Amino acid sequence: MRCLSDVGEFGFIDRISRLIPSSPYVIEGIGDDCAVLRVSDRIVLVTTDLCIENVHFRRDRVAASDIGWKAAAACISDIAAMGGAPLYCLVSLACPPSERTSYIEELYQGMLSAMSRFGTVIVGGDTTRSNDGISIDVIAIGEAIGNRFLRRRGAKVGDRIVVTGDLGSSAAGLHALINGVDDKELIRAHMYPNPRVLEGQWLCARSEVHAMMDISDGLCQDMGHLARASRLGIDLEPERLPVSPALARYCGEHGLDPLPLMLSGGEDYELVFAIDARSAEKILEDFHHEFRVQTTVVGTVTDAWTGVRIHGESPESIGFDHFKPKG
Ligand SMILES: [Mg+2]
Repeated sequence: MRCLSDVGEFGFIDRISRLIPSSPYVIEGIGDDCAVLRVSDRIVLVTTDLCIENVHFRRDRVAASDIGWKAAAACISDIAAMGGAPLYCLVSLACPPSERTSYIEELYQGMLSAMSRFGTVIVGGDTTRSNDGISIDVIAIGEAIGNRFLRRRGAKVGDRIVVTGDLGSSAAGLHALINGVDDKELIRAHMYPNPRVLEGQWLCARSEVHAMMDISDGLCQDMGHLARASRLGIDLEPERLPVSPALARYCGEHGLDPLPLMLSGGEDYELVFAIDARSAEKILEDFHHEFRVQTTVVGTVTDAWTGVRIHGESPESIGFDHFKPKG
């Protein structure tokens, strides 16, 4: 008998997708960062993110408000990934009846800070008892500004692949948490992601940007989704990725190679997008002028293969599949 770990997270999603009938109001169903829905003359973006104690967070190592911030920010990032504006959130919570009310309030304070920072608010949800641990499910509802949005598919041959910010700090922060290293800067990067909401909207308004998503599972794996959705290949040049001073320091102190953390660490919540090669330089310059956020061209779109290759070679173990143990 096959179980979830045999088919993997994405195999499981494929199986479920086949059971679902189509609807004329659904522009994009399962498979992108958000569902894209037609509601009269507007386009609405909806996404959900589930956060489980001892899978996604350990409460003995971080404050409840940090857990709340991250649960909300991770969900809002999927609205940013399509260039949308977050509007409303619903939060469902399962927790043991013995839980302290002050702990749950602190959790909600963290969620509400993230939501208020990114212009959204809780409008409802559900609560239920659990027999073991806390589960938080955040649903974010947003709007496509001017009915424009960016999908994962749409990259064109010759496009440059660009990432915002720097990668790997979140994964290093997780390494620090697991190993009891008190590295405040990196732990903050892990627990306080800042979804690129305004940056995503700005990029979405440019017709030269053809496809976009956020980086949650790790650059290699997420670029693989973008490449396969576009039915094209990406030639990744990982040596172009900048190593932030904090990451370089941490990796030096702990004998780690920063590259795997940057390529497959995940939870960076930066944006990765495909942009027309001829316009890339000017647009990235304007982007930097607007946001003071660095961007890096990390690859090129090709029709020579489908998926991600590093200088033409397949990366062996890429990203994090939630039902499979990490290699
Ligand atoms: Mg996403």
